[in-house]
Formats: sequence, structure tokens, C-alpha cells
Amino acid sequence: MTTTSQDSGPRVETAVIIGSGPAAWTAAVYAARANLNPIVYEGEPVGTEIPGGQLMLTTEIENFPGFPEGVTGPELMERMKAQALRYETRVVSELVTEIDLSSYPYTLKSSYSEPIRALSVIVATGAKAKWLGLPSEMRLAQQGGGVSACAVCDGALPFYRNKVLAVVGGGDTAMEESLYLTKFASEVIVIHRRDKFRASKVMADRVLGHKKVRVIWNSQVTDVHGDDEIKTIELTDTETGEKRNIEVGGLFIAIGHEPNTKFLNGQLDLTAHGYIKVAPWRTATSVNGVFAAGDVIDDYYRQAISSAGTGCMAALEAERWLAHQGIGESPILPTAEGPVPASEEQMGEPRGERRKQKRTHE
Ligand code: NAP
Repeated sequence: MTTTSQDSGPRVETAVIIGSGPAAWTAAVYAARANLNPIVYEGEPVGTEIPGGQLMLTTEIENFPGFPEGVTGPELMERMKAQALRYETRVVSELVTEIDLSSYPYTLKSSYSEPIRALSVIVATGAKAKWLGLPSEMRLAQQGGGVSACAVCDGALPFYRNKVLAVVGGGDTAMEESLYLTKFASEVIVIHRRDKFRASKVMADRVLGHKKVRVIWNSQVTDVHGDDEIKTIELTDTETGEKRNIEVGGLFIAIGHEPNTKFLNGQLDLTAHGYIKVAPWRTATSVNGVFAAGDVIDDYYRQAISSAGTGCMAALEAERWLAHQGIGESPILPTAEGPVPASEEQMGEPRGERRKQKRTHE
């Protein structure tokens, strides 16, 4: 089914994808090839946020399969978008500012264009890494000058090898990233603003017991120095206010992420950490016909490849869900489990349990 206009209200789209990272473009490729005629709202630049998501702030990507020589984050996004466009995905360079999931088809409003209605929606709006908010921090992150918000993405690059690397944060992410960086760094310095980690004891103990890790307590990074590459960071003692500079070869900000869910205005169930809740091993959200993929559902893997994977899942699931509503060209596969009822209780249960219960009710 393609775009329809059933009455005089806003035009109705079959598959609306919100986002522009690996999950969104992968969902678009799958949805377009399934003849769902998808439309992607890719967003627009706002402050330091640009369409393309987290990868636009990543320089070299060495772990995305199919690119043995590596690929830059922006190039990977450009190529994924080109692949979606090849199958005639329509792209709107606007933010979705409001969504109304209270009546079907769902209504979406964007920055400038007329509202539209959607028979299915894939939310792939990602999560923002939190930054310290220092001007030089963002500049060096954007130019690949030794500041990053993802150790797993960037830490193994030759740039960071055998150097003193600093990690900011005291939560599990900071612990995990510090331990990961010990594989490449000559020394890892964890900088935390308090005198106690927030991280789980097991992770904190691992960091504290690691011979390559040193912790600087009660300190905040208040400046980053270096023109093309990071040279030193300024630390301010949070108790005395005293300032000092230390030399580092890299700075990893690990102070948490914020999933981009504000525009949903509480209409989808979220996890305790604020990510969109989906059914186990599915992308169905708490509202029928709304699927979610990528970092907006994932506070665990956060990788381009895992994000692309869930984008594929969301498009296939949307296609099959639409087929069950009698929309689209896909056959209803007799062997496949039908659409997941996205009820609150079932989303909290392991898949095996849900299956057992389903059978008992049949
Ligand atoms: P988090 O638990 O919120 O920790 C963020 C850390 O950054 C805190 O220590 C906080 O300091 C510090 N921080 C925040 N803003 C700061 C700023 N402006 N300047 C300096 N420091 C700042 O975030 P997270 O570590 O990303 O973890 C998020 C959730 O995911 C947690 O529930 C965590 O357990 C989970 N997680 C689990 C695993 C795992 O199990 N393997 C791995 C990663 C994450 P304060 O402590 O002073 O507030």
C-alpha cells in the first residue's frame, strides 16, 4: 500500500520512520524494498545535534562489517542514506515535534510541513551522549582530535594507542569504558567529581584493582587544551576549587546518555532508564503499530551494527503487523508468530514465559 488519502484530513502514510542513524536508514531500506513507500523524518541541525546521530561525531569506524579498511561515521551514514534513497525512500529534513498516538492513524507534526497521519511508525531517534559542555570538547570531538563519548567505538584507533587516556564519570559506563581502554592505553585515569563511584560494586572494584588505572577523585574537567589534538585537560578540585593541568592523549566522556524521547510526551512506555520499552526480541512498543529501534531502545550495546540490526527488525515487524491489518502486499506467514500484543505485563516477561502463556490461552 502506498500513500493514501482516505478523507479530507492530513494525508495518510503507510510507514513513517523518525530518525537518521543506522537504525532509521536500515528500516527505510527494508520498508522501501517491501513496497511500504516509507517516509523518513531525518531531523535538522539544532545546536550540536545534527542528522545522522552519534556516528556523525565518530571519526574512523573499524568494526562495522563489510568495511575492512574502515569507514568514517559520516561516510557510513551517507552511504546508508544513499541506499535508502536508491529504493525511493522519501526524506523530510525536519524534526517531528509532536506525535498523537491516541487515535489511529497516528498524527505527526513536524517543524514546518503540514501534519501527516501514519498507519505504522518506527521510532529510531537514538540517544544523545551527555557532554561536559566545554567549547573545546565538542570541537576536538568533531575533528577527531582525541575527545570521544564512546570508548568501544574509538578506543582501539591507532590515535589512542599507548597513551594516557582520561575517562570522566563514576557510573557503570565509565567503569566499562575505562576497563576497555586498559587494553590500548599506557595508563587510564578516571576522573570523578565525587569521592565515591556510583557504579555497581563489582565494576568499581574491577577498576580500582586494575594496575593500569588511576582515579582522581573530587575533580571536574573544566577545560580541554589543544588545537588539532588534545594536549592537556584542566582539572578543578570540587572541594577546594584548585585548578591544575594534566597531560593526556585522549579524553573519553562517560557521564551517561539521554534517549531522544521527549517528543513522545509519555505516550510510549519507557524503561526505568528512560529508553523505549519493547517486547523481548521484538521492536513492538506499548502502542500497536508503533515500533522502535536503535539506541532509543538500547542502553546496553549502543553499536552501529546492533542499531542497524534492530532497524531491520522494526521494518520487518511493521510490514508483518500491517499485513495482519490487511495493509500492504506481504503474505501473512503461517509459520511465524503473529504480532506481539504489546501489553505492559507481557513486555516485562521473558519470551519463553510469554509463549507458554499464549499457548495456554489458545
Ligand atoms: P550514570 O549511572 O547516570 O552515571 C553517570 C556518571 O557521570 C555519574 O557518576 C555522574 O556523577 C557523572 N556525571 C554526570 N554528569 C556529569 C558532569 N556534568 N560532570 C562530571 N560527571 C558527571 O550513567 P551510566 O554510567 O551511563 O549508566 C546508565 C545506566 O546504565 C546505569 O543504570 C548503569 O548501571 C547502566 N549500565 C550498566 C552497564 C553494565 O551493567 N555493564 C554498563 C553501562 C551502563 P555522580 O555520580 O556524581 O552523579
